[in-house]
Amino acid sequence: MFDKLERARLEEIHFRHDPDSRLNAIIAIHNTRLGPALGGCRCIHYTSDDQAVDDAIRLARGMSYKAALAGVPQGGGKAVIMLPADGVEDRKSLYQAFGRFVHDLGGRYITAADSGTTLADLDEVSGVTPYVSGTSRDGFNPSPLTALGVFAGIKAAVRHKLRRNSLKDIHVAIQGVGNVGYALAALLADAGARLTVSDTDPAKTARCVSEFGATVVTGDDILTQECDVLAPCGLGGILNDISIPQLRCPIVAGAANNQLQKPEHGALLHQSDILYAPDYVINAGGLITVSLGYMNASMPGIQQRVLALETTLLTLFERSQAEGSPSSDIADQMAEDILYQRHFGQRASAKLVI
Ligand code: NAD
Repeated sequence: MFDKLERARLEEIHFRHDPDSRLNAIIAIHNTRLGPALGGCRCIHYTSDDQAVDDAIRLARGMSYKAALAGVPQGGGKAVIMLPADGVEDRKSLYQAFGRFVHDLGGRYITAADSGTTLADLDEVSGVTPYVSGTSRDGFNPSPLTALGVFAGIKAAVRHKLRRNSLKDIHVAIQGVGNVGYALAALLADAGARLTVSDTDPAKTARCVSEFGATVVTGDDILTQECDVLAPCGLGGILNDISIPQLRCPIVAGAANNQLQKPEHGALLHQSDILYAPDYVINAGGLITVSLGYMNASMPGIQQRVLALETTLLTLFERSQAEGSPSSDIADQMAEDILYQRHFGQRASAKLVI
């Protein structure tokens, strides 16, 4: 166990077993240098305790990196609830027990939503602890702000790679027009971009045709579209050994989590002269919303911070070009510079301005 913690540079890991509610939960706190650890609660079935521990550690570390580059005054943490194979009879008791677990950590970890945890679950948590963000009472919907951040990131990528200051007539292919992809399509259409969209749900693409004049393609054809920007907003793992050689775009910039099937696919994109906006940087608008919303920031303050992702990404792209290294590696280095104070000058970027 301790070598896992050392390898991930994890500060703390906590376990809670509550027989009455059948709660088996883990909270991993990766780094609190910038503030209390913030991260969602994943509630899924795991095949072993080890798998759950590994997931909690990996996700908590990811949250630290994301928060560092998003410039929010929070560290990275994550909770996992190991859902019993036969389900849970009393979800309210489960999440109340989880809330007590969070509360006992005294605010060093703030929980939020993730796969398997709903707004109603977080409402139960908020009945026993204040250390929760993104309940139905908060009124902050992260998806439109995630889309705004992706829009800002696409502007940065277009400026850097295509030397264009406007998105007018820029052709963007969006894979997945759900909550984020649809809101992104609206912003891009407003800016005069040309859209090609795909979704497994035809009703969602039809909405983009009628509202934005988008062209529709089906299946994986979206990945081989000749376009200026490919914006993955559906699935993870879509950038891999098979898809990357088939891409016909100079830029990949979208909201989906874990777009690179393996870390080395960042290098393959770089070698292929495709500019990649690292997913955890460009899709941080949701985290910024949950983080600053928890601190009672105003909506204009949140939007301002989300739009600042454009500057973060421009800096990242310029550093990637200057050093000849993949943007995904540069993102990790920039986050580590902030988390581990490797460069004094980087510290100011994590200060909170609401
Ligand atoms: P969503 O479920 O609302 O939308 C995803 C869409 O992708 C759906 O419409 C789905 O039908 C479509 N889809 C699934 N498989 C597809 C395929 N093979 N081809 C084309 N379309 C496909 O989810 P969302 O909230 O819009 O999130 C989209 C992505 O962004 C996810 O990867 C999510 O993890 C990530 N993300 C979301 C947020 C947020 O604030 N919602 C924040 C950060 C990251």
